[in-house]
Amino acid sequence: MTAFPLAILAEAGRQAPNWVSGYLVPLAYLVAAACFVLALKWLSAPATARRGVWIGELGMVLAIVGTLVGQGRLDYTWLVIALLAGALIGVPLAVFMPMTAVPQRTALSHAFGAAAAALVGSAHYLLNKPNIPLFDMIALMLEMLLGFLTFTGSLMAFGKLQEWLPGRPLTFRHQNAVNLSVLAAALGVGVVLVAWPGASYLFPVFVVLALAFGLMLIFPIGGADMPTVIALLNAYAGLSACLMGFVLHNKMLIVAGALDGSSGLILSIIMCKAMNRSFANVLFGAFGAVAKTGKEPDIYGGKVKSATAEEVAQLLADARRVVIVPGYGMAVAQAQHAVRELEVQLEQRGIEVEFAIHPVAGRMPGHMNVLLAEAEVPYDKLKDLDAINPTFHQTDVAVVIGANDVVNPLARTDPNSPIAGMPILDVDKARTVVVIKRSLSPGFAGIPNPLFAADNTLMFFNDGKAAVLELIAALKQV
Ligand code: NDP
Repeated sequence: MTAFPLAILAEAGRQAPNWVSGYLVPLAYLVAAACFVLALKWLSAPATARRGVWIGELGMVLAIVGTLVGQGRLDYTWLVIALLAGALIGVPLAVFMPMTAVPQRTALSHAFGAAAAALVGSAHYLLNKPNIPLFDMIALMLEMLLGFLTFTGSLMAFGKLQEWLPGRPLTFRHQNAVNLSVLAAALGVGVVLVAWPGASYLFPVFVVLALAFGLMLIFPIGGADMPTVIALLNAYAGLSACLMGFVLHNKMLIVAGALDGSSGLILSIIMCKAMNRSFANVLFGAFGAVAKTGKEPDIYGGKVKSATAEEVAQLLADARRVVIVPGYGMAVAQAQHAVRELEVQLEQRGIEVEFAIHPVAGRMPGHMNVLLAEAEVPYDKLKDLDAINPTFHQTDVAVVIGANDVVNPLARTDPNSPIAGMPILDVDKARTVVVIKRSLSPGFAGIPNPLFAADNTLMFFNDGKAAVLELIAALKQV
């Protein structure tokens, strides 16, 4: 997405005058590249994330101004129209989209960025054919392939996350073979176009095949694997922009696209580990259909125990160590400030409190970190999976607030479960588990959770925020 305005600007005119293009623009690009690297570094920790956003924006401004200044002949009218149109769509998206919809918003951003790169590539091809050097033609075809497939793939991911399309995997026989054939056909037409750039009558075929492959790539992927896919689409969009940089001879676009692509790739590898998916599996879109797990009556039948705010407050007051496990439901309930208040109350009683953060809790990487940081929970209280899991057996009460899949023991015990093998937070090892949610409804993966029927689990059925506020009030009476 970051590379999108650069792609348009770079194409707008590549003949920069004298010393401006010789010295000033490269200097602006160099500083912008350093800003982008620092932004990625700082964005990786909650304490420095805000600074990361600012420096990233500064880098983007430098890159855009550098490119603008470096142009010899430029029609600003279209640029202003494009920037205004982008701002008109982007600003309301950023302001009005709820935090819980950030994954969908990210998918849309990837779709727009990839479409921009693919369209710039198409314009470059159609305006300059057949006189395009071999190297540029190869980069151009790869760039358009990635751009078009990321466009439709991201729109599909958006539709699934927004629940406009069914979230379950759509599978059919020989799906991988069909998908790979479509990809091979697109690559084949691309090779013909590289060999004969003048054969532009084949270009629409290439575009349709690339668009179709993007859709087919996402069809078989279920909701629970969507985070990995979004990170991967991010990588595709970045790589596409990077290739565009080679075609347009714009170094800034190469750097920004490479950073975008590689950070997306690294994130998708991290997400693969967190979701226990092999990377090759993700790359070829070969996720299987959701397998059957135990039926809800078998799992819950007569075994679920519920508790009142007063009972839970007493348990907490008697505890020496409490671990709070936030999940998607905390985000929906906007309970983070109440949760912070609960933490403070408990600590004032001398109780040790920590937060267990699963890498895919919520609906986007870092979702829980962002919400808890907003509520000013100290960063050192947020413990990741590896750090917190060994401590659950010394924990008196694990309070699960709106989390479900990330604490589902089926991941350990049921090889047919869609979350089989996903590392989970071992809350069931705590002395007592209190689960705050409104009902026994499943989470994102759509499967029941035996934790809710475990001997040491108490269900506190309520909206996340209301429940925590009731707990705080009840604690004051204990
Ligand atoms: P889950 O989606 O598994 O469960 C959330 C639970 O929150 C639901 O069972 C729901 O139960 C409860 N809930 C909803 N609203 C409220 C409310 N107002 N108050 C209290 N509870 C509420 O969440 P997890 O965080 O455990 O797991 C995340 C899942 O999302 C994983 O499967 C992950 O793969 C997937 N995912 C993660 C992404 C990421 O990058 N983090 C992106 C996309 C998907 P009830 O209705 O009964 O209240």
